[in-house]
Amino acid sequence: MSDNCIFCKIAAGTIPCGKVYEDDQVLAFRDIHPQAPVHVLVIPKRHIATLDDVQEVDRADMGHLLERTTHVARLLGVAEDGYRVIVNTRKHGGQEVYHIHVHLMAGKPLGPMLSR
Ligand code: 5GP
Ligand code: ZN
Repeated sequence: MSDNCIFCKIAAGTIPCGKVYEDDQVLAFRDIHPQAPVHVLVIPKRHIATLDDVQEVDRADMGHLLERTTHVARLLGVAEDGYRVIVNTRKHGGQEVYHIHVHLMAGKPLGPMLSR
């Protein structure tokens, strides 16, 4: 756990969240400002600041994170129609919370990926 990391606090249960799935390694919860009808964040419980900080030893955990994201999509009934996953990384990626999180967005056609 990293001090002053809001997602570590959510993972530890000290800040409430709209939980949709949890196992011993990951937590999935509703984004507080949803950008799509379904907008869930999937995080590792262990603090890693950004995707770019992932190391070789984290490979299995990152695989688990992504595989569980597909599980959450099935749980929420959006897998068949499809969804988008995004991992914003650092300043130019638009990352606001420096604890790795996968955005899972779905529930309508999401349109082109980038707005100009
Ligand atoms: P980023 O821009 O870092 O990729 O995305 C961070 C996301 O976390 C944003 O979509 C924001 O709405 C969401 N978020 C920030 N703080 C909280 C919070 O306390 N609870 C929840 N559920 N979502 C949060
Ligand atoms: Zn953290």
